[in-house]
Amino acid sequence: MSPTNSESPIIVQKFGGSSVADADKIKNVARIIVDTYEKGFRTVAVISAMGDSTDDLVELAGKLCENPGGREYDALLATGEMVSVAAVAMAIQTMGYPAMSMNGGQAGIYTEDLHNRARILEIKTNNIIQHLNQGYIILVTGFQGVNSKGDITTLGRGGSDTSAVALAGALSAERCDIYTDVRGVYSTDPRVVPEAIKIEQISYIEMMELARVGAQVLHPRAVELARQGNIRLCKRSTFYLEDPGTMMIGEVNSDRGNAVTGIACDNSQSRFAVVGCPDQPGVAAEIFGSLASENISVDMIIQSLGKREGTNDIAFTINSTDAHDALRVLNTVKEKIGAESIKSDIEIAKVSIVGAGMIDRPGIAAEMFEALSDSGINIKMISTSEIKISCLVDKNQGHDAVRAIHQKFFPHAHSPEDVMVNEKVGY
Ligand code: ADP
Ligand code: ASP
Ligand code: MG
Repeated sequence: MSPTNSESPIIVQKFGGSSVADADKIKNVARIIVDTYEKGFRTVAVISAMGDSTDDLVELAGKLCENPGGREYDALLATGEMVSVAAVAMAIQTMGYPAMSMNGGQAGIYTEDLHNRARILEIKTNNIIQHLNQGYIILVTGFQGVNSKGDITTLGRGGSDTSAVALAGALSAERCDIYTDVRGVYSTDPRVVPEAIKIEQISYIEMMELARVGAQVLHPRAVELARQGNIRLCKRSTFYLEDPGTMMIGEVNSDRGNAVTGIACDNSQSRFAVVGCPDQPGVAAEIFGSLASENISVDMIIQSLGKREGTNDIAFTINSTDAHDALRVLNTVKEKIGAESIKSDIEIAKVSIVGAGMIDRPGIAAEMFEALSDSGINIKMISTSEIKISCLVDKNQGHDAVRAIHQKFFPHAHSPEDVMVNEKVGY
């Protein structure tokens, strides 16, 4: 007899690529899902592509065309998740439990028409609910949906987290547990700083900032959706099940000693400068309006006096994946506004500190800059917000910068015995 019925609470779980990297790991994940189901939860598990298979598909596309993108690129990348949902479903069935895999369309995940980084617009849950109520465990492909034309779309790299949180919201799930290869959210990437400290609880707002500035540990949109929908979101380990992981919470714990909660490094930033722009109204609007109309998000912006009288230089950063398109747009804009030249620097890293505790504490920025200068790292650009400070540095100094800043703000951190979990040793 099924341990669940149509009244049973729903849990959404998500397993990242490293959790399903091979057959044994798939069996381990199947066991975790079945255990949840056996506890009486209607269980939906969102699965990422196995191991690095999305990277492999990206590499393949890169060998086939110069600047891959659009409909067919999405159709290609989406296959990774289709393999893993079917594989996990088969492993669960072999254990004697009813399981059904669904792709984005079958799961009712509708997105914008935009390819490669579409947002989820709506989830029609009837197919999932109907099968949950029949006692099935449901496995849903992460990272993808369908658009109004019925074409497959993808949500941007790391987007399976967002699939899971969006499903948890649409299904009014009790919780959303994001399982990965580390024990939770740390003060920085433990692959870069092995003595990084695990955070027990983090506010949605701090997690959102950390995710946005490049902490790969959660997809930014996932945290945003969790915050909007007040969804109980937990990041935890597939391999250390006894560890409760990191819980996102609404309130900021103001008693916490540290001004800085986390440090992140984004190695995929590009810097552009439109040099010698005429100093007149409408120039910035033309530059950033043109970029926006191509869906290119801009991060830091600095306008400074140009070398020639009556001109300004406007510099800004974007994600490197947009660099090719940005250059095309900027060359057109340059002619239109009569600027002198476009300069670009694609070898850039952005290092950021995030912490709600910074708000009333002066001197945090100075401490960050001091840590960088003590390590001989030059800062190319700075931007700040209430709970975040970001510095651009040379790409090859990004991780050294993180280590120096971590040492500054977490001087008592020491190396734990069980730092890393599996073979993805990096950097
Ligand atoms: P998954 O395949 O499970 O989605 P990801 O590789 O996307 O896993 O994310 C987990 C990785 O995020 C960890 O292995 C870790 O190296 C990295 N990471 C970066 N910043 C952090 C952080 N602050 N805390 C924990 N992990 C982090
Ligand atoms: N497989 C996709 C990626 O590697 C989505 C994800 O894992 O979240 O980006
Ligand atoms: Mg991920």
